[in-house]
This record gives sequence, structure tokens and C-alpha cells, in this order.
Amino acid sequence: MPSRREARATALLAAEVAPVRHARARRAARIGMGFGAVAIATLLVGSAVAVTAALTGPAIAHDQVLDAVGARATLPMPEEAEQIPAPDSAAVAAASDPCAVEGVTGLIDDGDDDRAIAAAGGGEAVRAAIADGGAACFALDDPTRVWTIINKVHAFDPVDYSPSPLTSSLGVRNLSGGSLRADAAAALAEMADAIAADGAGEIALHSGYRSYTTQQGSYGRQVASRGVEGADLVSARPGHSEHQSGLAADVVACNGGCGSIDDLAATAQGEWIAANSWEYGWIVRYEEGHTEVSGYLPEPWHLRYIGTELAQAYHDGDFHTLEDFFALEPAPDYVD
Ligand SMILES: [Zn+2]
Repeated sequence: MPSRREARATALLAAEVAPVRHARARRAARIGMGFGAVAIATLLVGSAVAVTAALTGPAIAHDQVLDAVGARATLPMPEEAEQIPAPDSAAVAAASDPCAVEGVTGLIDDGDDDRAIAAAGGGEAVRAAIADGGAACFALDDPTRVWTIINKVHAFDPVDYSPSPLTSSLGVRNLSGGSLRADAAAALAEMADAIAADGAGEIALHSGYRSYTTQQGSYGRQVASRGVEGADLVSARPGHSEHQSGLAADVVACNGGCGSIDDLAATAQGEWIAANSWEYGWIVRYEEGHTEVSGYLPEPWHLRYIGTELAQAYHDGDFHTLEDFFALEPAPDYVD
């Protein structure tokens, strides 16, 4: 007999996830149609211009071309459709097993996560393969990877995992001497520059890497003030915090002095991050309306680095949790 919480999670999932998937399918269909229509229109315009040019010489009136296109558009499908290029074989292989694409496992061995994903056909190809239960070389339980999954049902293995190398020279204001993994640090600095260049102001790192031991202290303090149930909504248990990966950054907005994490969402910086952080490989990990899947109340300030390839797929697919992104079970609560 499912608990009330489980039943609610299931109901929410049915309500939330299904329409998103349908929307995604519709969008994909629309994109496919759009591309085909553009290709055919291009071919039509090309041949219309050629025909018109042959009849009238080089001086072609704009409306003549349009008339010709209009006339051709009512005819049956042209044979030119055959000229649309066939998909290349690398893309086809990537769709079936990204790990079988030449060079992919070598790049993973080298620790070059983003290039491995690009070589495997890109973020969406890898995501789709993982969601289908394949792509074993992209192991979601490997804490050293940008695709790693850490939530209430997936702990670090080993539970006291610590990333290396970490850096505290971030290229952004660092409020508490925090550190990040080098790739995440570089991406944060790049994003901070872009925010400033867009006139949205300055961001600072409020909290980056937190060790297993540090998290024991943070979580323990939350339990002392809120009780276990309250603490579990706002703080991860040790071994379950994304901050332990070195790939999570809590950021704040600064205008001279810096605001608190709670202030971020209402600032220009917070709006910029919600709209654009994916371009720099970051996602807002805990969004409003997805607590039953992510396990956390919304945290507009908590950014997770997943690399630019996956972040692009996350954005393009209109995903709102990493659990849905990889078609994993929701993680509303701890299992132990
Ligand atoms: Zn955080």
C-alpha cells in the first residue's frame, strides 16, 4: 500500500511529466516539419529563380519570383526532395549506442566529459540513450562526471567522496573561501563575465564545495532547528549533497555589497541566471513546482554544472529536474 506521500508523488508525476513529454514530442514534430518546409521552400525558390531567369534574363522582378513560387507551391511534391541529405552514419550510431562511437570512451577515460558527449552525438543523443537504459559508459553514479546524479535516493559512492582538483581561484567574488572543481570554476567565471557584460550586474559565490564532514555539520544544525522532516526539505543529508561533488554553486547578487541567497531570484542577476545560465553549462537544479521529483523546495540560487552539451539539451527539451532529464525515478525522500 503506497504511503500518502508516494501516492501524491505518483499523481504529481502523472500530472506534470506527461504533458511535458507530449509537448516535447509536438515540438520535435514541429521542428522536423519546419526544417522540411524550409528545405523545400529553398529548393522551390532556387528552381523558380532559375526558371524565371531563363525566361526573362537577369532582371527579375521580386513579384515575378513570388508568383513563380506560388504557382510551384500548389503542384505535387517535387522530385528535389531526394536531394535532402541523408543522415550521416555517425549520428545514426550515436542514436543507438553513444558509447560505440569511435573515440568516446577514450575521451571519457581522459576526463573530457563535454568532448565525450559531443563526440557521442551531442547532449540530446546521450540523454536519450541514458533515458532508454543504455549508454553504459556514461555512468550516472560516477561522482567524477558532469552527468552524475546526486539526490535523496542516489548517494555518493564512496559516501565521503571528495573531488580533485578543487580550486578557490574562481575569477568571481568568493564570499566564504569556497572552492569548485576546476571546470565548474571556469564556467562560473565565464558566466559571471557574461552577466556583467549584459548589464545585469555582479554575482558572487556564496557556497561551493562542501565536504562530507562539513555537510554533517550543516545538516545537523538544520535538524536541531527544524526537525528531520523540515531539515530534509532544505538541506541534504551527508553523502547526498550536490555540493560534495564540487559541481554545485550557491550564488548571490552583488551591488557593492552582496545580498543573501534568498534575495537572488528578485534581482537582475537572478533573472539572467534563470534564463541564460544553461549557455554556460549550469542549470537551476531545484525549481518551483518540482519538489516531489527533486526532493527540495525551490532554490533559485543553487546552480549545478552539467557541462554545455547536456545543459543545451536540458534547455532545449524544457526539462526542470535532472531526474526527468534522465528518466529516473523521482527522489522526493530518502529510502533509508
Ligand atoms: Zn546549494
